Amino acid sequence: MSFMKKSPWVIHYDGSSCNGCDIEVLACLTPLYDIERFGIVNTGNPKHADIFLVTGAVNAQNVPVVRQIYSQMPEPKVVVAVGACAASGGVFHDCYNIIGGVDKAIPVDVYVPGCAARPQAIIDGVVQGLAVLEAKRKLLAEGKLEELEQKDQLPPLPPQTHVKEDQA
Ligand code: SF4
Repeated sequence: MSFMKKSPWVIHYDGSSCNGCDIEVLACLTPLYDIERFGIVNTGNPKHADIFLVTGAVNAQNVPVVRQIYSQMPEPKVVVAVGACAASGGVFHDCYNIIGGVDKAIPVDVYVPGCAARPQAIIDGVVQGLAVLEAKRKLLAEGKLEELEQKDQLPPLPPQTHVKEDQA
């Protein structure tokens, strides 16, 4: 793990899912798996968060929510998609309301496999996210804003989303 000057703060959001991966995210916060040993703090405020941990798939209703949380996070920021649903829609992929994985709404930096994703894999994904965060922090420090914006650019809104671009 690379050195950071501050503890990384994580915000967690669940899209459409069975909540199995959310239980595993919560397990990471317990003394058994103890994600806090990496200095990681769970926050409910996107403006304080460095890492966006998303479980579940995106649908037409939650795309604007996911994009709004992401947009409120300060740069540099990292997105970790946890579980098969967050990666591709998982078992819900063919449901009428599912658009797909989190990358249909926002750029994803790290994918954590599993259904459900195990706490060890989630912690590994977050720690990988720290390295990405450090690389982005370096870009910011070097003034390479264009490169950073390119990495963090929002994908176009999926056609199934019934909101305007400036509302999402
Ligand atoms: S990946 Fe599996 S366990 Fe996780 S939310 Fe989806 S269906 Fe549930």
